[in-house]
Amino acid sequence: MTELRIAIVGFGKIARDQHVGAIAATAGATLAAVASRNASLPGVPHFATIEELLEKGPPIDAVSLCTPPQVRRAQAAAALAAGKHVMLEKPPGTGVAELDPLIAMAEEAKRTLFATWHSRYAPAVEPARAWLLTQRIKSVHINWKEDVRVWHPGQGWIWEPGGLGVFDPGINALSILTRILPRPVFVTAAELAFPANCQAPIAANLTLSDIGGLPVTAEFDFRQTGPQSWDILVETDQGRMTLSGGGRRMAIDGETVAEAPDQEYRELYGRFVKLTATGARDVDLAPLRLVADAFLLGRRNIVEPFVD
Ligand code: NAP
Repeated sequence: MTELRIAIVGFGKIARDQHVGAIAATAGATLAAVASRNASLPGVPHFATIEELLEKGPPIDAVSLCTPPQVRRAQAAAALAAGKHVMLEKPPGTGVAELDPLIAMAEEAKRTLFATWHSRYAPAVEPARAWLLTQRIKSVHINWKEDVRVWHPGQGWIWEPGGLGVFDPGINALSILTRILPRPVFVTAAELAFPANCQAPIAANLTLSDIGGLPVTAEFDFRQTGPQSWDILVETDQGRMTLSGGGRRMAIDGETVAEAPDQEYRELYGRFVKLTATGARDVDLAPLRLVADAFLLGRRNIVEPFVD
């Protein structure tokens, strides 16, 4: 098999924590270059920008965009114009419509555009989806609360327009929700808490439903200290399913039925390699549409300024 030569663009937290190791562990993938203004990886060709990479870099087949969402559209367009396959970190964009021209470019060029949702590859997500297909679902509650100072230290882009604030992790929950429920859901109401000095919410409560009136609620909070929670609780006529740890563990009435170590990014790169073999696209915008609708519908409360 020919190796897919991948360049990582934006060498920050997630690139270091997950992408480098996942590429190394994926058959058919190899890390060929890094493009990042301030960071590099010893032994790997380095370029400051994607433009420099595309102009002067070694031969590559694909880029994996690990930059903040505000700059990814232009980078994806540059890569597709240069004939490269593109993998996008989540969220795929700062708005929904900006994906349309990228999808069109990818189709035209017969190149892969892969909008990743890493949480969908958490080990208990598919077992949860399969189990829920056999149940009558009565209600769903998402409890997604983490300490922004622990998980996103110094990431000022999160608080800027397009940075999503608490929806940066919250969209992971919505990516799981939209995978495990048998029917599409939509936002019916939202309450967003904006720090007085920020352009993105630090907390949000959402109410959602489906065509059958299923009650779905979601609490997202970046101010959580102490125990952190990345949990989805589903009440069914045959018991309560708990999907915890960001999709790593599934329990029914408290008894664990699925649990495995995290391999999310290896799965992502395995899928990317497969998609590029035929130049296929994988772009599901359902989680981003829910976040966009929360901003459209949300009642805004101003809360105390956030200082990192
Ligand atoms: P990060 O630590 O801030 O890293 C992003 C990197 O992109 C920065 O180190 C920076 O490197 C580069 N960058 C920042 N602003 C830029 C700009 N204006 N133009 C060009 N490059 C810029 O952020 P991250 O946590 O890795 O997150 C990146 C993306 O991955 C986000 O969309 C996030 O939602 C997603 N993600 C993060 C996590 C996580 O746990 N952190 C998990 C899953 C997904 P240089 O200064 O060297 O250019």
